[in-house]
Amino acid sequence: MTPTLIGNTTEELTALLTEMGLPGYRGKQLARGFYTRFARDFDAFSDLPKALREKLAAETQLAPCSERSVQSAPDGTEKYLLNLTDDEVIEAVYLPYEDRTAVCVSSQVGCPMACSFCATGTEGLARNLTAGEIVDQLLFMQAKHPEQRISHLVLMGMGEPLINLPNVLKALHLLHDEVGLSYRNMTVSTVGVVPGMEKLAAEDLPITLAVSLHAPNNTLRSELVPLNEKYPIGRLMEACRHYTDTTRRRITFEYVLMAGVNDTEKEAHELGELLRRQPLCAVNTIPYNSTDVEARYQRPTPEAARLFREIVASYGVTITQRYEKGHRIAAACGQLKRSALKPGSAMRPLPLFSQIPVAEPTEPALEPAA
Ligand code: SAH
Repeated sequence: MTPTLIGNTTEELTALLTEMGLPGYRGKQLARGFYTRFARDFDAFSDLPKALREKLAAETQLAPCSERSVQSAPDGTEKYLLNLTDDEVIEAVYLPYEDRTAVCVSSQVGCPMACSFCATGTEGLARNLTAGEIVDQLLFMQAKHPEQRISHLVLMGMGEPLINLPNVLKALHLLHDEVGLSYRNMTVSTVGVVPGMEKLAAEDLPITLAVSLHAPNNTLRSELVPLNEKYPIGRLMEACRHYTDTTRRRITFEYVLMAGVNDTEKEAHELGELLRRQPLCAVNTIPYNSTDVEARYQRPTPEAARLFREIVASYGVTITQRYEKGHRIAAACGQLKRSALKPGSAMRPLPLFSQIPVAEPTEPALEPAA
């Protein structure tokens, strides 16, 4: 199989070149080229001898992602469909803000978690992304916007990052060590995969962990998030406490507000009660973004959303509303899906959690309070 260069550390590139009978020290130049100058083509490596470039072009592949299509919104948000080398397709979003530029990237092709309100969840899982494919989503968008340094990364695209933890961790390390992103500007969002949270805590990285909570009681949460059957709220909260105790980092609880489903005063009081003793946490509300798969759920009125926040805040819990971008081009949270399916793609049927292996080995990143 043709090796892909993006996704390797400088040391790994050095070893790869040596194996190919090429001078290993060129690995550093290669890494600099695509991780810090965002080169996507061997021709851009004018600092490498032509013969070396030609051999690399013949025997390796530089980048795993290529553009399939892009949609732009007036606020500057861009949603990319990216082709992978096996013809699978993923989505990644570029999000320019006044004070920062963020990207929202995918961790899997599809997702096996099947949350009832999420577009990605309707399609099942095809496969995990490699570390290179995760990192390259950022590198690709950075190359598109050379004038604007991408400072923040959120793993809130397609997929559940904590069931692809080894590759996600490698991607975070590459982004930190090779690309120069700060761990503090990286957010990993999980639906509540407790063993993955425990492993992540043990890594003790100063990233932000976001936990998609969406409901304050088990009956409702199990309806929205099937994984709750396996890791119910009590167990999840213990894992959150362990995470904050270990890392001293605050957890952001994501709460997608759906009219009449989880946004009433009853749930607001329950949520306040649930979180008032949880140390180092904040709630981030997200008004439901409509998808083409689920008509049952509606966005709450702004008044209902405000009342919900006021009630939760009255328990001393920090709560903000996500400042939204991109829903006009269906690039907002939960709207990402594989709009272009690979024919015969190996999509696995929807979830059998007992069979999902948990692979071995910011502040709410995007949103000023409304
Ligand atoms: N699997 C991870 C990360 C991907 S989803 C997780 O569940 O956290 C990123 C966020 O978008 C999650 O909080 C998810 O619940 C939310 N989301 C999904 N569908 C949505 C929708 N239709 N409207 C708003 N947010 C949605």
